[in-house]
Amino acid sequence: MYLFADAEIIDGVARAPYTGDVLVEGARIKRVAKSPDRISVEGAEVVCGGGCALMPGLVEAHAHLSFTNMQDLFESVRLPVEEHLLATIENAKLLLDQGFTSCFSAAAAKPRLDVVVRNAINAGRIPGPRLRAATQEMTPSGNLGDLDTDYMTLPEAVRFTVTCDSPDAFRQACRRAARNGVDTFKVNVSGDRGFEEWGAGPDATVITDEELAAVVQVARARGKKVAAHATSAGSVKMCVRHGVDVIYHAALCDEEALDMLEAAKDRVFVAPTVGFPYTLVHEAQDFGVEHDDATQASLESELASLINGVRAMRERGIRVLPGGDYGLFCNPQGTNARDLAHFVNLLGYSPMEAIQAGTAGGAALMVMDVGQIREGALADLLLVRGDPIADISILQDADRLIGIMKDGVFHKAPRADTGGMCLAAE
Ligand SMILES: [Zn+2]
Repeated sequence: MYLFADAEIIDGVARAPYTGDVLVEGARIKRVAKSPDRISVEGAEVVCGGGCALMPGLVEAHAHLSFTNMQDLFESVRLPVEEHLLATIENAKLLLDQGFTSCFSAAAAKPRLDVVVRNAINAGRIPGPRLRAATQEMTPSGNLGDLDTDYMTLPEAVRFTVTCDSPDAFRQACRRAARNGVDTFKVNVSGDRGFEEWGAGPDATVITDEELAAVVQVARARGKKVAAHATSAGSVKMCVRHGVDVIYHAALCDEEALDMLEAAKDRVFVAPTVGFPYTLVHEAQDFGVEHDDATQASLESELASLINGVRAMRERGIRVLPGGDYGLFCNPQGTNARDLAHFVNLLGYSPMEAIQAGTAGGAALMVMDVGQIREGALADLLLVRGDPIADISILQDADRLIGIMKDGVFHKAPRADTGGMCLAAE
């Protein structure tokens, strides 16, 4: 038993923090007491929470644990599966070290990387967040992630995409992925920046209603979730029409797309993945990438549209989640908590709203009993030195995460020498 005493509790749902005690027994939160009530239990180890915030562990809604900060999509192909698995294991630990106790995957770079790592985490063999394991990206020919040409076809298992060009092909890819044990089917419904020459830029909707319907049909039959790469307005609308669970990017929404998202707001999530476009615009040069003027202008215009769209979604009460394509070259793994600061600095969220989206909000997508400090919930908790409501950026500093608990077990236990913490038996 652990008793967190006298902490500022950010519980994931209440509008304001409150001072109180939290008792953890086994994997779950047993009691929450709001000051002046106190909890006193014999035999509990007491963690003094003075000067600290106690909050639910963070949820990353668009994780790619098998992405290795790549700049070129072929990097992922060249990485043999043995090294790729090691990198994925390292990223899983890194995310947990950074306070992410849950990750909803938005695609694995090889067929079973997510599944194997999820199973090893669940079995206690390696440290890592709770993981909803995804497929590779299922995508049509001539779209984001297609690395083939007329003269060269790569084996499917080494790419981060599976090519599907008919409803039957999507169905088969989904069923094979189900056989592999995934939780989520990832499908690319729109194009992306950089693929304009193929007619597959961000404003293009590249698959048909019948193809997306096939994916959703298999998902419903097998109890899986559907996650979609959908940047264009048309792709967002197609996702809402077919009941996709989480829509990524949604950068080019028009009024009709926003209206449809609002009408479906009880069943759909949007994760805009603002981290990657933000760093592409502002920080790519730090990684040796210089955009030409036209590219820079188009990146800036997409980012501006994304920001305006998400501000409108927030006002309409649409559930928007942090998660930002971390694992690409200028937006590296482990910096994921920047997304909460982006929500505050760019998207009009208060720090409390951003934390709620990144905890209880993400947990609703995970469909797991985490993301809240509530009696009976699973004890995934962060003890943070300082006040993240006053400065959301402190969540990016792992040194301030003096306690990281998952399932009632400390991944990182508070110590007396990390800011006056005590861990003592009462
Ligand atoms: Zn992604």
